Amino acid sequence: MKVPFNDLTWQWRHIEDGVKSDFDRVFASSQFSSGSFVDAFERQIAEWLNVPHAIGVNSGTSALHLALLAGNIGSGDEVLLPAHTFIGSAWGILYVGAVPVFCDVDERTGTIDIAAARQLVTPRTRAIIPVHLYGQPANMDAVVSFARDHNLKVIEDAAQSIGATWNGRSTGTMGDLGCISFYPGKNLGAAGEAGLIVTSDDNYAGRLRSLRNHAQTERYVHAELGFNYRMDGLQAVVLKHKLPLLSTWTKRRNELALRYIASLGGLPLEIPSIRHQTHCWHLFVIRTHSRNALRDALSKSGIETGLHYPVPLHRQPCLSAYVKPGATYPVADKWADEGLSLPLFDGMTDEQFDYVVKAVTAFYQ
Ligand SMILES: *Cc1c(COP(=O)(O)O)cnc(C)c1O
Repeated sequence: MKVPFNDLTWQWRHIEDGVKSDFDRVFASSQFSSGSFVDAFERQIAEWLNVPHAIGVNSGTSALHLALLAGNIGSGDEVLLPAHTFIGSAWGILYVGAVPVFCDVDERTGTIDIAAARQLVTPRTRAIIPVHLYGQPANMDAVVSFARDHNLKVIEDAAQSIGATWNGRSTGTMGDLGCISFYPGKNLGAAGEAGLIVTSDDNYAGRLRSLRNHAQTERYVHAELGFNYRMDGLQAVVLKHKLPLLSTWTKRRNELALRYIASLGGLPLEIPSIRHQTHCWHLFVIRTHSRNALRDALSKSGIETGLHYPVPLHRQPCLSAYVKPGATYPVADKWADEGLSLPLFDGMTDEQFDYVVKAVTAFYQ
């Protein structure tokens, strides 16, 4: 048997008919870049997330860049973020000329450790980017109260966490600004690149709509440095058809995750810990000292696994200038060195699931 890491064709089969007829409408109206299909999707997802403003852009990376600009984070400002995350969490900070300040992460969840962040605050600290890693919310009570104490902007990296909630609120909607990615492999994936910024602040929303469209304020008048970060009409209609199915897909992910936890609990490996909050299980990451050997064994059995992420930010060549001399990140290093992502996707069959559990169990026997 072969078990892929993900199977995006399964989702496509559920939306194919609706998307194809909407593609015809996009082509017939030529609303390719921004336009009515993007406007409609923005209204649909704002309602789904229960947030006043949703601004479609061309990637999660662009979303984080514009969110930092809207938050007036710029040259010399320090921005706290977890050392263990995807590189995309960091780019926006560099794009605006600010300074990334890496924080170690929580042993159980891999999300930002606020006790560590507290030690790193300086008079130049202006913002914090909590990452809802693997689809599990960061501890937003701790983040928000810490940010309030130090007058910091909270920019949520919710790239992996659409469908996850904290005390009933969607991730991305609790900070000043929230950023979501629709990269094809994310839980709500486009047929290409797309992203979203959400906010409840009218001023941020207005500025973001202008920034993504060449900072145009009236036709051919540009108030400041702008960007071409608009969302495509074709992506908007793909997302339109997937969004109503997302809750069902997230339920299936939760069911599989809980079954993994029950089935692998007795083995000598760290299974993911769940906070008592809704998790959307973008990834199911175990930790084990024999990560590479287990990965090889599973690969020989036809099972694809992933590494998320083997090189933490403080060990990235492009970020080395920002690592303070003597700073150590023991927990982030542990996640990077021991983490292994097992296949978990909405279209995974029970047979595929049982096969993975059997292979992992056999490895330890
Ligand atoms: C995917 C991702 C991003 C970037 O999103 P893109 O749409 O790929 O640009 C940022 N942060 C995290 C944590 C991600 O997983």
